[in-house]
Formats: sequence, structure tokens, C-alpha cells
Amino acid sequence: MKVTILGTGTSQGVPVIGCKCETCLSSNSKDKRLRTSAFVNVNGMKILIDTSIDFRQQMLKNKIDDIDAVLYTHHHVDHINGMDDLRQITQKHNKVIELYGNKTTMDELKVTFRYVFDAELIRHHAVPLVHFNYIENKEFYLGDVKVIPVECLHGNLKIFGYRIENFAYITDCSKITDEEIQKLQGLKVLVINALRIRPHPTHFNLQQAIEVALKVKPKRTYLTHLTHDILHDKINSTLPKGIELGYDGIEFNL
Ligand SMILES: [Zn+2]
Ligand SMILES: [Zn+2]
Ligand SMILES: [Zn+2]
Repeated sequence: MKVTILGTGTSQGVPVIGCKCETCLSSNSKDKRLRTSAFVNVNGMKILIDTSIDFRQQMLKNKIDDIDAVLYTHHHVDHINGMDDLRQITQKHNKVIELYGNKTTMDELKVTFRYVFDAELIRHHAVPLVHFNYIENKEFYLGDVKVIPVECLHGNLKIFGYRIENFAYITDCSKITDEEIQKLQGLKVLVINALRIRPHPTHFNLQQAIEVALKVKPKRTYLTHLTHDILHDKINSTLPKGIELGYDGIEFNL
């Protein structure tokens, strides 16, 4: 299994348009953050987590040109708005891409991308060919790959993180029960959101993300969905052993 982290930025991305802060002006490539997404290639199954606003750039930068399935964490625009560009993949491979998410996520996707269901447009291939799969909080299979949803709260919204083999990906979480944390035992890599230093009502901040990582005890943890409050080198050097800031393009083989 190979995992590529495609984006580690919060909803605005980093640098933020018009901002002159130290992080936004930084020349360190690790301070350039596209919106949050990841790509997992496991047993030949190509799985994308979220179609971020920066989906097109992420596919080009990482030379990814095929996707079998998309696992959606939730419907906020930073996680879904690249969906239209799945069109290039479905045309190139003449295939239908399977989309997975909880009921709220899929219902909202259908509202945002209503034109995807317009029969006239579909006939002219001006839309991505996708199939919607509603999932519950229980394991399911993509081919022979087991996917375990991990339910989290994002403020009051119930969303999904996902575990695939020894890898788990959780973003936009502000609360996770001990019962769901049980699903994260024995991980090699955990990716989890840490928005900024100060607390936030709908996201873990740095300290809260670290606390979850210390409970889960994966071999390595990468933090994602980072704002421009997080200057990579300055903050990374303060983190406990085994916990690092994620950055765009990082890859690991598991
Ligand atoms: Zn987000
Ligand atoms: Zn800034
Ligand atoms: Zn969100």
C-alpha cells in the first residue's frame, strides 16, 4: 500500500490570498498547503479521500491519472469542490467512479452537483460519471480492500474518517469517542487534523490532536488541515517524538 498526502491546508489553503504573515511569505515548500486530501493505492485499488478544491492541481503535481473510488469525509466545500474534474478520469478510462460517504454527505453532494444527474448532459459526457454509495458506520469492501469508517464529530456534524489496513485518515474532527478510537489500534500511520494553536469550535487544535495521537499510539502521526498559524519548521521542532506536521506530497509505503 502506498499513501500520498495531496494537501495539508485548511479551507483557505496556505498561503492565504493577500496575507503577509511569516508562514504565507515563507519560501519553505512545506509551508505551501493545498486543501486537504489523500490518495491510497492498495492492491491495485486506487482510492482518493475527498475531491478537494485543488483536486486538478493535485492530480497533475502527483501524476495521478486513475481513480477507482472516492471516500468522502464530509460535504464542506474544501473537501468536495474538485469533484467535477473526475470527468477527465472517467473519460480517459471510460469508467464510472464509485463515491462513498454518509447520508448527509451524499445528500449534500447531490444538491451541490445537481447537474451531474441531468440526463442530457450525461449523454454528452460533459459530467463526471459517478455512482453514489451511501455507507453506514460499519466496514465495507472496495474489491478485496476492507475500509473501516471512523465516526467523528466536526462541531455538531457527524463525519467519517477512514481506516484502510494500517493507515487511518481523520480530518475536520473536533471530537472522537473512545469507542471509535478503539478502531485505531495498531496503526502504522495516523493522519489527523490540527487546525492551529488556539482552540476552535469545530476542529482539533494542535494540543487536542496531539492528545488523540498519544492515546491511539500509532508508529507515526502526521498532522493535517493546517492554517497559516503553523509555520512548519518552528512548530514541527516542538512536537513529541513520532508526531510530525504533514506536508503536501509526502508519501509512505505501508
Ligand atoms: Zn475542511
Ligand atoms: Zn498568513
Ligand atoms: Zn469541514
